[in-house]
This record gives sequence, structure tokens and C-alpha cells, in this order.
Amino acid sequence: MPISEQQLAFDQQHIWHPYSSMINPPPMTPVDSASGVRIRLSDGRELIDGMASWWSAIHGYNHPRLNAAAHGQIDKMAHVMFGGITHEPAIELAKKLVAMTPEGLDRVFLADSGSVSAEVSMKMAIQYWHARGKPGKHKMLALRNGYHGDTFGAMSVCDPVTGMHELFSGVLAQQFFIPRPETRFGEALRDGDLDALEQTLAEHGDEIAALILEPVVQGAGGMYFYSPEWLKGARTLCDRYEVLMIADEIATGFGRSGELFACNHAGISPDILCLGKALTGGYMTLAATLTTAHIGETISKGGAGCFMHGPTFMGNPLACAVANESLALLQEQDWQSQVRRIEQQLKEKLTPAAKLNNVADVRALGAIGVVELHEPVSLAEIQPRFVEAGVWVRPFGKLVYVMPPYVMSDEDLTSLCGAIVKVLSDLCE
Ligand SMILES: *Cc1c(COP(=O)(O)O)cnc(C)c1O
Repeated sequence: MPISEQQLAFDQQHIWHPYSSMINPPPMTPVDSASGVRIRLSDGRELIDGMASWWSAIHGYNHPRLNAAAHGQIDKMAHVMFGGITHEPAIELAKKLVAMTPEGLDRVFLADSGSVSAEVSMKMAIQYWHARGKPGKHKMLALRNGYHGDTFGAMSVCDPVTGMHELFSGVLAQQFFIPRPETRFGEALRDGDLDALEQTLAEHGDEIAALILEPVVQGAGGMYFYSPEWLKGARTLCDRYEVLMIADEIATGFGRSGELFACNHAGISPDILCLGKALTGGYMTLAATLTTAHIGETISKGGAGCFMHGPTFMGNPLACAVANESLALLQEQDWQSQVRRIEQQLKEKLTPAAKLNNVADVRALGAIGVVELHEPVSLAEIQPRFVEAGVWVRPFGKLVYVMPPYVMSDEDLTSLCGAIVKVLSDLCE
């Protein structure tokens, strides 16, 4: 049954969608189901999905193995509280995460969304310094153009201007910011690119608990790829000035940037790592914050005697069971060749867009392709054109970007990129 006009009208009047208005509601594309890399609309049309539902559906939709994992678990128990209780799906997931993430990260906190895992990471850093007798070290240092989520702590470390949260600036915790690295991915580290970081650490290190950043790929704040050499230098400086490093790999984790984790491009381990998005293969919300034994133990020796966080749906067994199957799938497949193949295809097939008058830059890294425009696009104008062209692409400001499921075939990638070039070229006319 297609969604009726009445149902759509109810949606427009009553339901908030991400960043939407209640007086000028954005048009909605009614979706009936999704399978593999295709989203089926309620009128029967099918779209090739370029977004993987915001980085998460890495194996595609309606995957038989993920479905079976969900069915298997739901017949045992969908949920049980995590306070004083444990279960196999959570234990298995923690084991997998400890084994696959960069070295030294072996204490796992299961959170319920990316933003919460970012909050948890900052609380860990603050509790750590408190336990070490340095309660003055409670601020964060963040990069401009960063994005870490929509809750208050996370908002405070998003870009203060482009971070969508300017209006809250008066109520947010005041943090320190430095410019994003100038050295792009693949370039030799530019002279002086780490100076702003070093200066801030030298001047304010006694107030700063942690440097929080998205390693190598800045996502929602600009889809910007920067030098792993910079990240490596930042790791060294954090150690020198006794500031923790929090790597927010909620978007980049699980292979998206071409390495299993973006930190691997630089061969570094952060002190705290945030994971989310692709963790359950896009099936449901789950996130994790990992840290070292030293930080875990130090926090626990502090005044509180424990880490001060515990969500109701912590360690949700259903989400953990699906995450376990998603990670098993990832490791059984040759994800690295899939992502490399997608990177090559994106580079080749999006390049024709570089010639268009409205296009400033075309770039790709791993399974992430970006066409940056000179001017922000009107979503109301461009979204129907993409749907008409048979693809699901959701631009943001000046950025038309895709992060397809890793299972997308070359043929579908060609159609996806072709549709982007065509729609952008039609807009020029
Ligand atoms: C999406 C995202 C978040 C927030 O995750 P939610 O699940 O939307 O709360 C945080 N950090 C980064 C880098 C993200 O891409």
C-alpha cells in the first residue's frame, strides 16, 4: 500500500524530521522498503542509495545474515537492563571491538548513539584528570569544521560557526578551538601546520582535558580529508603536553576511509575512541566508547569510585547481536578491496563534475566521494531531481557527497555518479 496523501499530510503537520521546520516542512520521499543498495519508494520506483543512511548501512539493506541475527536474538530477549546483569551479545561485541581497534583500547563502554558516545568520551577525560588531582583540566580542545553530535557537550566541540549550533553559543561550555589542518590528505605536511595546536597546548594545557577530533576525515562539518602526518604530530604533542586524545571515528570507523579505522592511516592509537553509525550495519542505534586500561583504572580510583554514566538501554542485546554479525560480515569479506574499488570508481566517475561552472572541487577517499560547489544548493530544488534521476543523494550546504554501501556494484556506482554529474550539470543551465 502506498503511503496516502492523508498520511503524508499528517507527517507534515506533526512530525519533526532531522533539522526540519514546522511551518515550512520539507517535502518527504515516502519509502516502502529497502534491499541491497536500493531504496524502494511507496510508488514502486527504486533509487540507488548513495548515502548508506548516513554512513551506516555498509552491507546494504535487508541483509539475510543481519536479519537472521536480529530474529535469533529477539526470540531470546530484545532487551534487559545492563546494571548488574550481563549477556553474551555484549561480551562478544566488546571482545571483537577490543581485538579490531587500535592497540591499547581495551575498556569498552556501550552507549546508545553517537552523540552519547561523544559525551561519554569527554566525561571520561574529565574524570581521568579529576582522579589525577588536576580538576582544572576540564576543557576540550577541538578543530574548526568538526562535527561531534547534537547534544550539549557534543555541540560545544562542533565548529562554533558552521557547526549548526551557533544559536546555542551562549549556553554551551566554552571550549578551545584551532583551525583544521591545512595539509590535505596525500600532501607532505606543510611547515607550521601544527603550530596552532602546539601553541594552544603550551598556553592552556593545564586547562585542557583532551583534544577531540575526527581523524583524517572531517564529516558533517565540511567533508574534508587531511594529512595523517598531521594526526601523528598531534598525537606526539598531546603526549608532550599531557592532554588526552579523543578520536571520534563515528563516521570513519569500520573501513569507510580505506583503513579499518582512520587512526590507522597514521599508525596511532588515541586514548579514547568513539564508534557508532556503521557499528550495527545500519540496523539500529548503538555506539561504543573505548579507552585504555590505565584511564579506566585511574577513573575508578578517583573520588566517585566509578565512571558516572549509565543509559537505560545500555548494551541493548538486540543491537549487540546485530553488531556482532555486521562485524563478522565485515571481517569475512575483503572490505579493503571493496572500498579501494569504490574509491577508484568515485574518483573516475565524479571527475567530469570538476569541469562544471558551479563546482569548486571533486575529491574521494575510501568509500567517500565529495563534489563541493561554489554556492549552497537548495535542497527543495535538487532533491526531486536526484529522485527523478533514480538515486538517493542528500546534499548539505555546498556539499554533494556520497558514501555508498560497500557492496555497491561498479554498474550501480556508474549510475550513481552519472546521475550526480547530470543533475549538477542541469543546474548550471
Ligand atoms: C554522526 C556523528 C556523530 C553523532 O552521532 P549520532 O548517532 O547522530 O548522535 C558524532 N560524531 C561524528 C563524527 C558523526 O559523524
